[in-house]
Amino acid sequence: MVYNFNAGPAILPSAVLAEAQAELRDYHGTGMSILELSHRSTEYEAVNADAQARLKAFLGVGDDYQVLFLQGGASLQFAMIPLNFLPENRVADYLLTGSWSEKALTEAGTLGEVRAAASTRAGGYRTVPGAAEIALSERPAYVHLTSNETIHGVQWHEWPDVGARPLIADMSSDILSRPLDTNRFALIYAGAQKNLGPSGATVVVARKELLDSAPETIPAILRYAIHARASSLYNTPPSFAVYLIGLTLRWIETEGGLDALAERNRRKAALIYGAIDGSGGFYRGHALPESRSLMNVTFRLATPEAEKAFLMAADEAGFVGLAGHRSVGGVRASLYNAMTLDGCTALTDFMGEFMRRRG
Ligand SMILES: *Cc1c(COP(=O)(O)O)cnc(C)c1O
Repeated sequence: MVYNFNAGPAILPSAVLAEAQAELRDYHGTGMSILELSHRSTEYEAVNADAQARLKAFLGVGDDYQVLFLQGGASLQFAMIPLNFLPENRVADYLLTGSWSEKALTEAGTLGEVRAAASTRAGGYRTVPGAAEIALSERPAYVHLTSNETIHGVQWHEWPDVGARPLIADMSSDILSRPLDTNRFALIYAGAQKNLGPSGATVVVARKELLDSAPETIPAILRYAIHARASSLYNTPPSFAVYLIGLTLRWIETEGGLDALAERNRRKAALIYGAIDGSGGFYRGHALPESRSLMNVTFRLATPEAEKAFLMAADEAGFVGLAGHRSVGGVRASLYNAMTLDGCTALTDFMGEFMRRRG
């Protein structure tokens, strides 16, 4: 048994893994595994429809929104969004809060005109911008933000006011970690491998009206409207990943839904931030308190050597995946929905013990 703090692919609920294992060889009496079923079978169509319906229910959206299961990761969305929604004579606004929003802007910049309408880079990406630091274009094609910066550990806790401009968000690392007023967004997207299931599927939830607005000149495989019309069965979908997303959505229900998860996520993060803040500077949090991520807790020790020793001792004690992203270093504890309160308590205890040994 290990405590899995990986940033993604990441921990899955053990109940979900047990269920997938139990029905792996014979899916609902078909005599075949879900891995072996046609994506045109009634069984897979039910999996697809059920997962879409559950996502819509959790996100509180009606039939004016479409749920899509795509491939290519969140990274393909960085390109699909401008391909579909950024015409030649328009500009798209990006709010920069860390590595992922930067990547989204850079990719879109290869396809059209983009602007950084705000950036907290100068401060080392420790916070999201305040209202006064956001300068939106008059009539941008859309405004893009990253709800949780997985690498820097910075999260939006209140959405910026963008008026009538279409708001698009990369929610890869915090989707379904808390209730969401999805109707504020024209489109949200998330690679599944952090909070929703395994790698291989990307969830997109968007206003149908927006999807239909894309030009028909782009390749069919990159057009949202084509996938929407086919209910995400335009070509072979990542069927096993969608199936596991479905199981994860059922698990969320048995855990008490998004309110219960949000409360637990707050308590989990409070444990780790508490250990950082109570360490007298031995551990130093990266994000400013008001922008701290509840999903990815990033912190440093006094020296790279101390960090290395910490990570080695943690690994030996059964805490895996704690190394910060290779671009920023330090320590990162990813606390997605499936991470338990017990896991966070154990990490907090370990942090205290390591400090006593070294301090
Ligand atoms: C992981 C991550 C991505 C990249 O996802 P891929 O599925 O690897 O393309 C993009 N944005 C955020 C916020 C992420 O956490």
